[in-house]
Amino acid sequence: MRGLLFAANWKMNLGPSDASAYMASFLPAFDPRPDRMVWFFPPALSVNSVVAAVRDSGRHDIVVGVQDIYWEPKGAFTGAISGPLAAQAGARAVLIGHSERRHVFGETDEQTGKKLAAAIAAELHPVLCVGETLEQRDAGQTLAVATRQLNAALAGRAATARVTIAYEPVWAIGTGRNATPRDAATVHAAIRAWLEQQGAAETQILYGGSVNLKNAAELLAEPELDGVLVGGASLDPQAWGELVRTAVA
Ligand code: PEP
Repeated sequence: MRGLLFAANWKMNLGPSDASAYMASFLPAFDPRPDRMVWFFPPALSVNSVVAAVRDSGRHDIVVGVQDIYWEPKGAFTGAISGPLAAQAGARAVLIGHSERRHVFGETDEQTGKKLAAAIAAELHPVLCVGETLEQRDAGQTLAVATRQLNAALAGRAATARVTIAYEPVWAIGTGRNATPRDAATVHAAIRAWLEQQGAAETQILYGGSVNLKNAAELLAEPELDGVLVGGASLDPQAWGELVRTAVA
C-alpha cells in the first residue's frame, strides 16, 4: 500500500487559541486511514495546543512538528528554540531548510546541515526542504541546486537518519504557480537517485509549492510523489481536511 504524507506548514499563522479552535474543527471530520498520515507544523507557540488536541483525540496518525530549530541544544540564544526544547513541548518532527529560512532569513547550506544534525540528535524527524529559485531554474540549475542542498545537509547521513525530503521550488511557494506533475516527478526521480546512491532509497519525498484542493490529486497521481507539504491551503481546517480526504482515491 502506498502511504502518503500530508504535511501542513502554518508558517507564522494561528496562535495557541486559533490552533485549538482549528483542531476542534479538523479532528472530528477527519477519519483515520492506514495509507495516509497528517503532520502539522504550527508556530512553536502553538505546538502545545496542537499536541494536546491530538493527545486528547487518541489519534496516532497525526504528528506535530516545529518549523525550525537552532543547532545548539540550550543556552544564551535569545529568541531561538532548540531540538530538545521542541521535543519537550511534544514535537516529533521539524522542518529543516525551508526556503523561507534560506531566502528570507539568509540561512546557509552549512547552517542547514548543522540544524539537520541537531534534529537527529534530539530524535526529531527532519523534513529537509530543497529547491531552486526562479533564476536558478531559468539557468537550468534545478537538479544541481537540489543535489548541492542534499549533499550539504545529508551526505553520509541519509542511510542512518530517519528523514523525509520535501522538494519545494522557491518560485512555486505562496505564489499560486506550481510545478506540473511531470516537472515535480523529474526532480523527485533525481532526488531518489541521489538517495539510492546513499543507501536510503526508501526515504519519502514530498512535493510543496502552491498545492491546493484543485491540484493535489493530479500531483499525487505521480507515483514519484510520496505526499505534499502545504502552506496556504492548510490554514483552513475544513479545506485542509477536504484536501487530505479527496487527494487520494
Ligand atoms: C510551504 O510553506 O512549504 C509551502 C509550500 O507553501 P504554499 O503551499 O503556500 O506554497
